[in-house]
Amino acid sequence: MTVHAPGLPLPHTGPVTGVPAGAPIPGRSLRFRVETWGCQMNVHDSEKMAAALGSLGCRPAETEPADVVVLNTCSVREKAQEKVFTRVEQLVGRGGERPRLIGVAGCVAQQEGGAIFGRAPAVDFILGTQSLVCLPDIVRRLLDGETRIVETGRHPDNLDIPPEQIDRIPGVKAYITIMEGCDNFCSFCVVPFTRGRERCRSVSSIVREAESLAASGFREVQLLGQNVNSYRDPEDERDFAELTDAVGAVPGIRRIRFTSPHPKDFSNALMDRFAAGGPLMPHMHLPAQSGSTTVLERMRRGYSRGEFLELVGRARDKAPELALSTDLIVGFCGETRREFEDTLTLLDEVRFSSVYSFKYSERPHTLASKRLPDDVPDPEKTDRLVELQARQREIQLALHRDLVGREVEVLIEGPSRKGGQLAGRGPDNRIVNFDGPVEATGSFGDVRITGFGPNSLLGEPVGSLTPRRLTGSPASAAANPRDWGAEIPLPVVQAAMRGREASPSA
Ligand code: SF4
Repeated sequence: MTVHAPGLPLPHTGPVTGVPAGAPIPGRSLRFRVETWGCQMNVHDSEKMAAALGSLGCRPAETEPADVVVLNTCSVREKAQEKVFTRVEQLVGRGGERPRLIGVAGCVAQQEGGAIFGRAPAVDFILGTQSLVCLPDIVRRLLDGETRIVETGRHPDNLDIPPEQIDRIPGVKAYITIMEGCDNFCSFCVVPFTRGRERCRSVSSIVREAESLAASGFREVQLLGQNVNSYRDPEDERDFAELTDAVGAVPGIRRIRFTSPHPKDFSNALMDRFAAGGPLMPHMHLPAQSGSTTVLERMRRGYSRGEFLELVGRARDKAPELALSTDLIVGFCGETRREFEDTLTLLDEVRFSSVYSFKYSERPHTLASKRLPDDVPDPEKTDRLVELQARQREIQLALHRDLVGREVEVLIEGPSRKGGQLAGRGPDNRIVNFDGPVEATGSFGDVRITGFGPNSLLGEPVGSLTPRRLTGSPASAAANPRDWGAEIPLPVVQAAMRGREASPSA
């Protein structure tokens, strides 16, 4: 599974009720690749699609050409959407053989449907965001001679795919979808049109998935949803804070993170969980989108600059160590220089631990596309983005400088991106690189911060790092090399870690 550089926002075998049977295709041994753009929700959806293809007897193509290629797309910005069509051209225009089947999944598929065939005739199927469970059936029908299948309907089973039917990227942390869709309709955002209205899983189903993950050796879970703090258990109305209690009570789960909450829905109960210092880690991605009250009004975000700052202040009063990251859009419809400067000063006041920043890009169906002119010239948007990122870089350097000398507990994720060291994450989600044996991957260790850059920290272990005792037999490893409970070849871990991070949801 390939994960491409981020777009935006907030993503096996056995029959399941309502899910097309995934019995292997007789006599066929196809290799597949799922290529992913966009958010964690998309990364997680790709894990589900990989499992669906595996249920047909297809094998992952790591480096060799693939027979089935699924492009799991992001439409949150026009640039991300266009990459898909470029990629289809690459797949069919290499001079060699094109993949036998090319599918477009994800938000572009949901948004454009069959219109994609008009622009990319080489595509064989379109798979919407709420139709992942249909993938095995679609592949079978295409192999049996059908052509051009479009499936963008809503399938209730899609939200509650059992954990054993998700082919997770090996690692130490795993995603759990707790809800899908969004009812907020911020004026710039396409998500309610591509992911639909809010739907929540039950606490009991989510806890079962967390138990399964803990049994497989995962120690950290990230709860995913477009607007997690409007979560409600459809069975007994438990809220998001109570959900974190239930997941935190699962033996073996030591860390919980989530993305993304909406500032307008933030409850004091959730702040109390941060203050309590349990498994809920002291980091939160809190999308601000702008620092200007007038821009926030045009975005229909439901809070003012003052209310956002008041929320940050309350959160930090309760949990002083809380690190906050955010999303910011520059050049939204009608944004004046003065309004943009309000966003710059928001950086100074909040001092976010990291920022995902983007130029505004008009999206179909949205209120902004219908009522607000996209009138900030693109060169001006670029200048503002560069200015914002430069300001944020200085803030991150200053924050990181203050951490030198501190000791933090890291969950060791594996080899660092540049190689030669290990990388782990502290409770505040910052990346720390340090020397250590690769066998310590998956364990917790204490590290003293000795240096820093704008995006990561440098450290040295305090005491020895304990190699993790891997579980599982050689037989189970051979049977399922993706099972983290079994020993995973280092190249697989490295490849997985390279593609692990995507940017948060809106
Ligand atoms: S920005 Fe977030 S809260 Fe607003 S509509 Fe999009 S997904 Fe929903």
